[in-house]
Formats: sequence, structure tokens, C-alpha cells
Amino acid sequence: MTRLVLVGPPGAGKGTQAAALSEQLRIPHISTGDLFRAHVGQETPLGQEAKRYLDSGELVPDSVTNEMVRERLAEPDAKAGFLLDGFPRNTKQAEVLGEMLAAADTKLDAVIQLDVAEDVVVGRLMSRGRSDDTEEVIRRRQQVYVSETAPLLEYYAEILVKVDGVGEVQEISDRVLEALRDRT
Ligand code: ADP
Repeated sequence: MTRLVLVGPPGAGKGTQAAALSEQLRIPHISTGDLFRAHVGQETPLGQEAKRYLDSGELVPDSVTNEMVRERLAEPDAKAGFLLDGFPRNTKQAEVLGEMLAAADTKLDAVIQLDVAEDVVVGRLMSRGRSDDTEEVIRRRQQVYVSETAPLLEYYAEILVKVDGVGEVQEISDRVLEALRDRT
């Protein structure tokens, strides 16, 4: 179980869980949100292109996102496995990811769905205080999740592992690890 994707609404705790899981499974945590924020912070051309999308809660165009992920997955540490957090975020990105992995004769082992109710996630985000965590942008990110990202749950139905995302951090990562073990 080394090639994994974490899916869940904004505020589901993907970043927190991904950090814990990547440590326990010894695979790199690849977060497209973190990669974009690093580009924005360093004012690279990609960051300048991505900034307005991050600021408004829209998805960065697939062409930009897919190439950034392609480069990241080509780095040596991702050869033996990875935990993707925030990618894919729509079915087109999922298709491109599938092609990238097929080209390397690999495929995803599982897609972990962190299941958290919408009223819980909005409350968490409001108290987090990142610059794109204003109420309006949060609401837009939730809409984008429902319309663009939630269809992935159907797309990945055969390898989907659904885990209750409410509880202590350790408790949730234990649930994920147990659910992954049950699949093998
Ligand atoms: P959250 O899960 O709280 O929405 P992220 O850090 O995952 O936060 O993403 C922040 C922003 O980065 C998104 O609102 C979007 O603009 C951009 N982003 C991240 N991943 C992708 C992706 N796969 N495709 C397009 N845009 C993305």
C-alpha cells in the first residue's frame, strides 16, 4: 500500500492526516496546496499564475497543476510510493494521474476518503486563519469540492477506503492504517 491518494472536503484534516500517515508508512507527503503556496511565497512564474485561483477558492487550471505534479512524482523519493493530498481534484486530473502511473507501469493502491460533515469542516476552517480562509472563499472551496472533486469517489469506487474523519488525530490515522491493512 504505497501509492495512495487522500480525498476529503477542505477542512477534513487531509494535511494533518497526510503528515502522520506519510511518517508511519515512510512515503513522501505530496500536497498540491503546499506546493502552490511555496510557489506563491517564492514568487515563481507558476506561483504568480496560481495566486488568483488560490485567493478565490477556484481550482488552478489542470495544465498548470498536472505538470507540477508530474515533475514532483518524477523525483527519486516518489518512485517507491507517495501519499497525494489535494490531487487529483477532478476526474480529468485523475485520468492524467492514471496515465502518468501507467507510463511507469504502476497504479494507485488505494484512495482514502476522509469523511467529515460539512458543518464540522467549515467550523474548523474558520478557526484556522490561513489567508484563503475567509468565509466567502471557504464557501467557494466547498462548492468546488462538491461539484468537481466528489465525483472522484465514484471514479475510484473500486479502490476507495472510507474512513470516519472525526476524532483525535492519532485515532483517525489508526483507523486509516487498519482500513488499509484490511484491504491487502
Ligand atoms: P483545502 O483542502 O483547505 O482546500 P489545499 O491546500 O488543498 O486546501 O488547496 C488550496 C488551494 O490550492 C485550492 O483552493 C486550489 O486553488 C489550489 N489547489 C490545490 N490542489 C489543486 C488541484 N489538484 N487542482 C487545482 N487547484 C488546486
